[in-house]
Amino acid sequence: MESISGVRGPVLRRGAEGFDGERAGFQTASRHEPDVLVGATGAEDVRAAVTFAAERGLPVTVEATGHGRAVPALGGVLIQTRRMTGVSVDPAGRTVRIEAGVRWGQVIDAAAVHGLTPLSGSSPEVGAVGYTLGGGLGLLARTYGYAADHVRSIDVVTGDGEARHVTADSDPDLFWALRGGGGGFGVVTALEIDLVPVATIYGGTLFFAAGPDVLAAFQEWTALVPEELTSSVGMMTFPDVPGAPESLRGRFVASVHLAFAGAAAEGERLVAPLWAAGPVLRDTLAEMPFAASASIHNDPDGAPRVHGHQRAGVGPRRRRAGRRPRHRRTGRARLELREDQPLGWGARAAAGRRERGRAP
Ligand SMILES: Cc1cc2nc3c(=O)[nH]c(=O)nc-3n(C[C@H](O)[C@H](O)[C@H](O)COP(=O)(O)OP(=O)(O)OC[C@H]3O[C@@H](n4cnc5c(N)ncnc54)[C@H](O)[C@@H]3O)c2cc1C
Repeated sequence: MESISGVRGPVLRRGAEGFDGERAGFQTASRHEPDVLVGATGAEDVRAAVTFAAERGLPVTVEATGHGRAVPALGGVLIQTRRMTGVSVDPAGRTVRIEAGVRWGQVIDAAAVHGLTPLSGSSPEVGAVGYTLGGGLGLLARTYGYAADHVRSIDVVTGDGEARHVTADSDPDLFWALRGGGGGFGVVTALEIDLVPVATIYGGTLFFAAGPDVLAAFQEWTALVPEELTSSVGMMTFPDVPGAPESLRGRFVASVHLAFAGAAAEGERLVAPLWAAGPVLRDTLAEMPFAASASIHNDPDGAPRVHGHQRAGVGPRRRRAGRRPRHRRTGRARLELREDQPLGWGARAAAGRRERGRAP
């Protein structure tokens, strides 16, 4: 093991013992090939690692869980944040401070104690910081909008090795760029984000045999439901393997995932028209604590080679035909073609920004 001045966590060169374990993450289709890997234990480790890279002109990559690994790093310094797991809830202010390596599940559990919830997405295994920096379209998105619009402050180490505390007032441009711009503007060491007063939801999934009628019915239905109900439709071929639900095994299935931030009886009433979309193969709708919301999408928590969300990909022709996505399941890959219900809150905010002459 090497050392970098000021770093308390492990510093590993390629080939060192523990290197492969440190660079492994959710996505196994590709892997990072950095020259040096730093297992950061806190903001000071991040600052030291970025300074080390800056002094040598090396590129820096950051990873928390590997859920969003797109282009693997070749050379340079990889900062692994999984040891940075501090979570601190302020119930009165309805905010939470999260360190860079925190996964949503941790935040959900810490907030639930106070009857609050974060604007998390389908999987509690996803990193809260990476998700939020990318925008973050969550289970309650139609009610509250993007997670990136609910950030109070950002602790970030910029490329010059400076640690900054950034708010909308202190540095509006950097604050704006980080929220949606992903990891291109620095290494975030912590975020302070809003929590919302939702303790229980009515939600789950309705599974249909995929076809044009289901997609047309979904589209019509989404125009009728209030903003407290957020939904998406996905199409995928279920694996024909033991353990998959019998009613879905080997079938090309359309699944409508939804979460309603309101009473179960009202949720049932709102969802009722959707049952006419076609024979329902399986129904998991129920009232649940938000802490159980992972059951809605039931995303894999293992390590698939590819997990594709093609979120804006259902064009009119494909929708009319209810066609099978071109991607197929191969090996352990799971691919789902998914379209989200248009946002109410988000669309209104974007329209407001356009009216004020600012970029959407
Ligand atoms: C199963 C699954 C479910 C998902 N569900 C949703 C969903 O419901 N809604 C949604 O909006 N998205 C969803 N996503 C997408 C997910 O939000 C992104 O892939 C996100 O980038 C994952 O962040 P991570 O930290 O877990 O991943 P990582 O692979 O660790 O990081 C991904 C990228 O985030 C950036 N990043 C991470 N940490 C930092 C940091 N500390 N500082 C600066 N940049 C950083 C870097 O650019 C990094 O390459 C899902 C993805 C998967 C695989």
